[in-house]
Amino acid sequence: MKQETKCIHEGYKPSKGEPRQLPIYQSTTFKYDTSDEMGKLFDLEASGYFYTRLQNPTNDSVAEKICALEGGVAAMLTSSGQAANFYAIFNICQAGDHFITSSAIYGGTYNLFAVTMPKMGIECTFVDQDLPEEELAKYFKPNTKAVFGETVTNPTVTVFDFEKFARLAHSHGVPLIVDNTFATPINCRPFEHGADIVTHSTTKYMDGHGVGVGGCIVDSGNFDWMKYADKFPGLTTPDESYHGITYAEKFGKGAYITKATAQLMRDLGSIQSPQNAFYLNLGLETLAVRMERHCQNALKVAQFLKGHEKVEWVHYAGLEGDKYYDLAQKYMPNGTCGVLAFAVKGGREKSIKFMDSLRFASIATHVADAKTCLLHPASHTHRQLSETQLIEAGISPDLIRFSVGIENADDIIDDLKQAFDKI
Ligand SMILES: *Cc1c(COP(=O)(O)O)cnc(C)c1O
Repeated sequence: MKQETKCIHEGYKPSKGEPRQLPIYQSTTFKYDTSDEMGKLFDLEASGYFYTRLQNPTNDSVAEKICALEGGVAAMLTSSGQAANFYAIFNICQAGDHFITSSAIYGGTYNLFAVTMPKMGIECTFVDQDLPEEELAKYFKPNTKAVFGETVTNPTVTVFDFEKFARLAHSHGVPLIVDNTFATPINCRPFEHGADIVTHSTTKYMDGHGVGVGGCIVDSGNFDWMKYADKFPGLTTPDESYHGITYAEKFGKGAYITKATAQLMRDLGSIQSPQNAFYLNLGLETLAVRMERHCQNALKVAQFLKGHEKVEWVHYAGLEGDKYYDLAQKYMPNGTCGVLAFAVKGGREKSIKFMDSLRFASIATHVADAKTCLLHPASHTHRQLSETQLIEAGISPDLIRFSVGIENADDIIDDLKQAFDKI
């Protein structure tokens, strides 16, 4: 099946007489007849549902759809994108470990990696993703366990060079983890370019309507944990909390997601509610159609901004002449996403007047849904970062993140025009 068809038909597949739409299994627990049957589930000897904190059929159907869209072997939903990125790293890193991340990442992920994970003894090095390969290689240490980046970065809309980072990660015996939230599998399939694990904030385009916070982790099944057994003892040595099973031996390509479910979800419990998974599934059904429109509209808006005298600069990788145009063409020939970044001439005061003058494009701590919205990271999402950290993350203080919706592009441009006229 092609991506558009998978959006509709992957995941839940009803048999004769069953509901045509994905049912919401609004149940914490599942019934068994004997104590022995239950026992086998707890030992991971049999597979089946027993408690929704670990697994729920509605969630699993939706995870299966995302897995198919990404071309992976196993996937799980999480309560948020933050939980997805945390689990993705924490599943293979423990106190004393280190990982490498592009510094151009979402603000919430930046805090997670820079402030919260070091408190658990997990350190990371933030790198400039545009450095040449030889320079980046210098940041690897014996205890480095993963490399992390974002396909299209939020909010700077730069493009990640998958092949460069996949070569670096693999030559050092560690997996490449990529947050594919902005591109979605409609525009980019990171596994085809060497990524091993993909994460999503499904809160964005996948949901598409701004109704449910959620996340997802997908495993390609390509990384050979056993080959680097010393680096990943959590997967390659017995788990005493599961009677000594060794995930990589017992579950093969499913090891990474099984461990994340059986251990992290069991102990930390960031499960997505089945109700939210149902909404997410509705969003996924139209994802391919919406992404196409988001990209068409964003390109028109970017071209308009590029030609406007009151605009200082505009960044959109789909725009010819953009610094990341070539990388975008290589990895996302059908388009990147609907988000672009630009700055208004005349400093902060003018920017704020401009933003406040918009009619339907609204200021929102959100991005990547049907409605056009915008945000000024330096005064909103990233306000906890220092000036130096902002610049390190590639966010200039005048950057406006503009998330182009699926309205008629002419209306979006008219709204921008009238707001420019007010400054
Ligand atoms: C929003 C976002 C996140 C965090 O996701 P939540 O669902 O808000 O927890 C992570 N990565 C990217 C790229 C995002 O845009």
